[in-house]
Amino acid sequence: MQSAAIRPLTPMLPRQLFTAEHEVFRETVRKFYEKEVIPYTERFEDQQHVDRELWNKAGELGLLCATMPEEYGGSGVDRLYSMILIEEQAYAGDSATGFSLHSDIVANYLLNFGNEAQKQQWLPQMASGEVVTAIAMTEPGTGSDLQAVRTSAVLDGEDYVINGSKIFITNGYLCDMAIVVCKTGNSDKGSANLSLMMVEADRPGFSKGKPLNKIGMKGQDTCELFFDNVRVPKENLLGLEGMGFMMLMKELAWERLIVAIICQAGAEAAFAHTVKYTKERQAFGKSISHFQNTRFKLAELRTEIDVCRAYLDRCMQLQLKQELGVDAAAAAKYKISEMYSKVVDECLQLHGGYGYMLEYPIARAYIDNRANRIYAGTNEIMKELIARSL
Ligand SMILES: Cc1cc2nc3c(=O)[nH]c(=O)nc-3n(C[C@H](O)[C@H](O)[C@H](O)COP(=O)(O)OP(=O)(O)OC[C@H]3O[C@@H](n4cnc5c(N)ncnc54)[C@H](O)[C@@H]3O)c2cc1C
Repeated sequence: MQSAAIRPLTPMLPRQLFTAEHEVFRETVRKFYEKEVIPYTERFEDQQHVDRELWNKAGELGLLCATMPEEYGGSGVDRLYSMILIEEQAYAGDSATGFSLHSDIVANYLLNFGNEAQKQQWLPQMASGEVVTAIAMTEPGTGSDLQAVRTSAVLDGEDYVINGSKIFITNGYLCDMAIVVCKTGNSDKGSANLSLMMVEADRPGFSKGKPLNKIGMKGQDTCELFFDNVRVPKENLLGLEGMGFMMLMKELAWERLIVAIICQAGAEAAFAHTVKYTKERQAFGKSISHFQNTRFKLAELRTEIDVCRAYLDRCMQLQLKQELGVDAAAAAKYKISEMYSKVVDECLQLHGGYGYMLEYPIARAYIDNRANRIYAGTNEIMKELIARSL
């Protein structure tokens, strides 16, 4: 079991994104993961979610919604702070905390499309960890084809009445509020039928399933949500009716980049663990790092990881200027998640039998990494997007 966060190797092309202030923040995040998360990994996995208080602790340290403006409880910092949070989570070997989805995805919907009252109501509580949020798009019958969503919201007097269900929802079990993608219209143009509803977890008729039994990411809370005549006031509509699809598209490049950041840092962590392991492990009277196969494998992986790092950091520079294209972000998500899977597989092989044991970080990375090729748009959908731009 990992006892401290691993430090990745310095890339062959040095990174140029961060200032000294960023690095101070990185230390804070690293310490948080080492003190509050790594020692409790097994408990989180057994209960299939983190402790609820962990959210409050992260909020106290300013680790939630940091990029939100100060008037809404954030620190008003740039998205490099989000990048650092995601990277340090990966270097700590953690897949249980769902902070990024809450801070970097849900909070942005509120900031971009919420009215002043909605922002005041939710964002400060999200930043402090008093409120945990989720975004519920996927349904048992549809995932990639978002326009086929069937969960409905029908206006009845001053309320919308919601019926339907969602599946695979990250932070679903602990969430206090979910942004739920609902069908509000019957237009021939499917994209015009969707709206985003903010649904508080204590509304009558809103229930949650038990955390789902996944093959990996065991400590992360992922569950089903059910809506049985749930009444929410009209004020819970986010943005305008029928604009849900457009709102979901606004930050898609960033959301895909987030997965690329997770995967890049995950690959770097797996590689650093493996370099260390191959130096320590002896076979035939010498360290296995001396075998030509090991050296060539590590050289190949180092090259793949560093080439992806250069592309990703360039994407991040463009993202900071709001200039990152959907195709470039899709390519980052597709390529880097595939690279991560390949790196973990090769690194596990270099660990021999120990690589198959869950107490080794590489074994956890092996089962945890797989979901990255599926969520935030499957890699097949990423290829569609890249092909469309040709
Ligand atoms: C751990 C985890 C966490 C998740 N968290 C969330 C969350 O917080 N919120 C949320 O809403 N969802 C979440 N999801 C759901 C995830 O986004 C969906 O699983 C994903 O979008 C794929 O949808 P699907 O499972 O219905 O697969 P489908 O859409 O049924 O796809 C099945 C297969 O068909 C392929 N396919 C589909 N359409 C096309 C096409 N046009 N061209 C080529 N191939 C195609 C897919 O690529 C895939 O290989 C999560 C999933 C996981 C595993």
